[in-house]
Amino acid sequence: MKEKEIWFLTGSQHLYGPAALKQVAANAETVAKGLDADPGVPAPIVFRPIVTTPEEIRAACVEASASERCAGVITWMHTFSPAKMWIGGLTRLTKPVCHLHTQFNRDIPWSGIDMDFMNLNQSAHGDREFGHMCSRMRIPRRVVVGHWEDPAVRAQVGEWTSVALGLAALRELKVVRFGDNMRAVAVTEGDKVEAERVFGMSVNTHGIGDLAAVVKEAGESEIDTLCAEYDDTYEMASDLRDGGSARASLREAARIEIGLRRFLETGGYGAFTDTFEDLHGLTQLPGLPVQRLMAGGYGFGAEGDWKHAALVHVLKVIGGGRGRGTSFMEDYTYHFHPDGTRCLGAHMLEICPSIAAARPRCEIHPLGIGGKADPVRLVFDAATGAAVNASLVDMGNRFRFLVNTVESVGISEPMPRLPVARVLWDAKPDLQTAAEAWIQAGGAHHTAFSFDVNAHQIEMLAEMTGVECVRIDEATEMRRFRQDLRVGEVYYGIRGL
Ligand code: MN
Repeated sequence: MKEKEIWFLTGSQHLYGPAALKQVAANAETVAKGLDADPGVPAPIVFRPIVTTPEEIRAACVEASASERCAGVITWMHTFSPAKMWIGGLTRLTKPVCHLHTQFNRDIPWSGIDMDFMNLNQSAHGDREFGHMCSRMRIPRRVVVGHWEDPAVRAQVGEWTSVALGLAALRELKVVRFGDNMRAVAVTEGDKVEAERVFGMSVNTHGIGDLAAVVKEAGESEIDTLCAEYDDTYEMASDLRDGGSARASLREAARIEIGLRRFLETGGYGAFTDTFEDLHGLTQLPGLPVQRLMAGGYGFGAEGDWKHAALVHVLKVIGGGRGRGTSFMEDYTYHFHPDGTRCLGAHMLEICPSIAAARPRCEIHPLGIGGKADPVRLVFDAATGAAVNASLVDMGNRFRFLVNTVESVGISEPMPRLPVARVLWDAKPDLQTAAEAWIQAGGAHHTAFSFDVNAHQIEMLAEMTGVECVRIDEATEMRRFRQDLRVGEVYYGIRGL
């Protein structure tokens, strides 16, 4: 996503004379450069010439919409900019909008203020005129209020920018499914045509044999090199080490990783699924290869779960450089102890090592299902801290995002017989409410788990795509929550028509 950028559009008008407009342009460029230089803003903020007429506004919006580089626009009305001038442009704008409601000066210059100053610094009412038109046109956007040098304001711009980059990734994403969904499972199904219409991502299938053919082509020397990388990177179980009894299985995992990576790179895919029910031509269910590809930024969903494969990738893009980790996840087992309820999150194999607390162990163990050879996998405990579990489901007439805030609490008890990566979390507001709300809202058993993305960012992503988002957090109370679901049925039901 490095080539993506955000355009800074400043509105004004020709009422104040050329000198004032020159000052508007200079101030706007200073604001744009200030945001651009902020390390918390994860994309270049590009100053664009100020717009003062309907023609200029329309041209700027058409150009932003057509630009492959532009992931979103920040708008600011330095002076008054009559909003009928914006109708033509906003009608054509297809990129997400952050309305920065700021002002060049922080303070009122009490002793020096005169009507020239008042004319030049009118965003207090100029931005309201612009906001009225956005609301009247039902344009979803983020409104950030405050002085542009305030770190809190810049942080909000940075958070929005991350989501705009995620949306750009979603619109361009290609998801490949190796085989179909796990038989008879409901929540991993969904309308792939509608997914492409709503989100832009394409979701298509290859028979597992197409992948097996590429895996077979992996050369012995590249397998040697990759196994050496495993030896250097992980704490290797003794049977997987060079000369160990299961070294051949590690080489098989390396062969699968090489083939998978090649297939994804050749096809330009950013996310993928597989299923243990369809592994013809592969010797083991991909564990280690999937974990390592996820760590490299690929989205993954098990059992054919293409919606969560896409979501994992998009959250990795939104999480960007913060780098505390994002993974495919499943609510696995509960701890209903009266001293504190917990949920143990894990999967059969495929948890991303980006969320690991320490150097992962590389191990091999039997897998009870699928009827294939023992798969190699990375085993670790996740780091601790605030995180989210996010989900995307198909409700039949529309999509719905869900997000639950959780706290990864760390694992104090050893679990020597559990051979998979795991996270133990405290769900907010408490497990009983969180699980009841999640189930009432139809959330999946799979999620995208992230330390780097917050619940508000999931809501922003949903709003940018016009999709419902159900949030479960400290403030969730069931009576109100169920009422919100009923309201959502009406609002998003009508909206989808
Ligand atoms: Mn699963």
